[in-house]
Amino acid sequence: MISRQPVMTSNGVPLLESDPILDVAAYMTPAVNSFCRERLRSGNCNFLIAVDEDKDQPANAFQTLDDRGRPVIVFTRSLLKLARNKDELAFVLGHEAAHHIEGHIPRRQDQAMTGAILVGILGQSAGLTGEELLRAQEIGAGLAAQHYSKEFELEADALGAEIALAAGYDPLKGANFFARLPDPGDRFLGSHPANAERMAVVRATVKRLKGS
Ligand SMILES: [Zn+2]
Repeated sequence: MISRQPVMTSNGVPLLESDPILDVAAYMTPAVNSFCRERLRSGNCNFLIAVDEDKDQPANAFQTLDDRGRPVIVFTRSLLKLARNKDELAFVLGHEAAHHIEGHIPRRQDQAMTGAILVGILGQSAGLTGEELLRAQEIGAGLAAQHYSKEFELEADALGAEIALAAGYDPLKGANFFARLPDPGDRFLGSHPANAERMAVVRATVKRLKGS
C-alpha cells in the first residue's frame, strides 16, 4: 500500500477518497522526486500538489514556486473533471513537475491567476500538519501561473512522459488529453505548440524508453 500524498484544496474540504488525483499524486510523487533529485541536485524537490475547487476557473494546471522556492502544482477542478483516466492526470502532473526539474524560466507571469486561488488553497489547506500549514500560509500572492516558450513546453512533454511511464502510467494515453482540452489561449495546453507536435514528442519519448 502506497502512502497517500496529501493534496491541498482551495476550499479546505478534503478530497474524496475516490478522487483520482489522490491516487495519481500518490503514485507520481515518488517518480517525480527521484527524477528531481537526480537532475536538480541543489534544487527543491518537495512538491506541493493542490486543487483549485473554484468551478468558475477554466480547465488549467500550472506549476509555480512559493517564496522559498518550493514547487507548487495546481490543478483546477475543471481540468480534473475533463480527464477521462488517471493516465491523463499523471501526464499533466509529470509535465508540470518537469518544468521545475528542467529549470525552465517562465516567459511571463499571469497576474490573473494569483491571489484568490492560491490564498484559498494555501490558507485553508486541510489535513496538513501544523508546520505544513504555517509554511502554506507564508506562501504569498507572488504566486502566479507560469508560461513557457514552445521549446520548454516540448521538453516538459518529453520529461513528463518519462516520469509518468516510470510511475506505471501510459503517457500515450495520457497525452490524448491534448486532443480534448478546450483551447485555453496562452494557458496550459494552449495552442502553441500544436497538439500534433506535442503528441509526436511523447511518442518519440516512449519509443526511445521502451526501445521499440
Ligand atoms: Zn507547460
